[in-house]
Amino acid sequence: MDSIKLRKEALEIEQEVIQIRRHIHENPELGFEEFETSKFIAEKLEQLGYEIIKNVGITGVVGILRGDQPGPCVLFRADMDALKVDENSGDPHASKKPGIHHACGHDGHVAMLLGFAKIISTWKSKIKGIVKLCFQPAEEGLAGAKKMIEEHVLENPNVDMCFGAHLVNYEYPGYVRCVPGPITANSDRIFIDIEGLGGHASTPQDAKDAVVIGCQLVTAMQTITSRNLSPYETGTISIGKIESGTQANVIASKCRIEGTVRSFNQKTQSLFEERLNQLCNGFAISYDCKINLVFKKLYPATINDQKCYELAIESIKKVVGESNLKKKDFGLAGEDFSFFSLQKPSCYFCIGSAPQNSLINDGTIALRPHHSPFFTIDESSLVIGVSIWVQMLEDIMC
Ligand SMILES: [Zn+2]
Ligand SMILES: [Zn+2]
Repeated sequence: MDSIKLRKEALEIEQEVIQIRRHIHENPELGFEEFETSKFIAEKLEQLGYEIIKNVGITGVVGILRGDQPGPCVLFRADMDALKVDENSGDPHASKKPGIHHACGHDGHVAMLLGFAKIISTWKSKIKGIVKLCFQPAEEGLAGAKKMIEEHVLENPNVDMCFGAHLVNYEYPGYVRCVPGPITANSDRIFIDIEGLGGHASTPQDAKDAVVIGCQLVTAMQTITSRNLSPYETGTISIGKIESGTQANVIASKCRIEGTVRSFNQKTQSLFEERLNQLCNGFAISYDCKINLVFKKLYPATINDQKCYELAIESIKKVVGESNLKKKDFGLAGEDFSFFSLQKPSCYFCIGSAPQNSLINDGTIALRPHHSPFFTIDESSLVIGVSIWVQMLEDIMC
């Protein structure tokens, strides 16, 4: 393992960055409701002398720092939303809001970008170009990135390149993942409504039980990835929510199934859509009921531009060392940073944040996975992230 060379400016503010992360972690907010987080960020940026644009995409905040010398406009992005998950991490700085947990590490993303903002706020004279710090709402399914783009975050001044990073609990601190081309997956949503016929629990012959149909449909879907998808391709279908019925002695007339579908290429995406449609239609005939499927294409894959990728890994290598940079993607995670990567040359990478002893089976299984109640990060990852941002700015814009 190469030794890690942290930036001394980052080390000097490490405690402050950790405190920021803890403050945001204790006070999580859901997508497009990040009002306090957004206010907190805007105040910090204002104190540091940034030009501020507030309410871009409802709660989004943009900080602009104009270098004294001409050069490109580079956007650095952190998402800031939490999830509807109960926290059971056992951390002393756990969420103060029941049912809401920064279970994806976006609190860390904000803290790293604010640390970076502080360090470079005194670098105006040596910066060639314009730095745009983008604090984005609603990454988790609500496409906050798309909304910020619709509200002109990439214009005035016009952005030339975008960079984004995610903490990842499938790598320990000190490791970074980055690949050219696709680094996150197509992330789509499915909504299935089954309409059967309600009735008395004692007379099932008069009803069409939506619970039974729904359960069988969910089970049948498992064969799409196990039996229809080639073992050499990657993809997954996960059902995260089923709603049906009102009470124990009433046969349910309706069942609602919601899930997410992930794939790396269009071929797999189309296979999933086609097979889901066939299953729903087939079930409707078999069980003499109505089934409506909505397959909503949510986030496209994030594509790393070759040139931006090369720029990014040069700086990453300087901080974590060549041997700690893994040419690996973010698995089947979806990411709305993809909307930036569709518009501008971009690069996205993953910074290891797995707590000590939380990875088993060569890192394929995480005991503190994203979106779980047990999620927490090793805070030593934060100073690494800040160091990478600072190094990148120095290499690209100074
Ligand atoms: Zn997430
Ligand atoms: Zn995330």
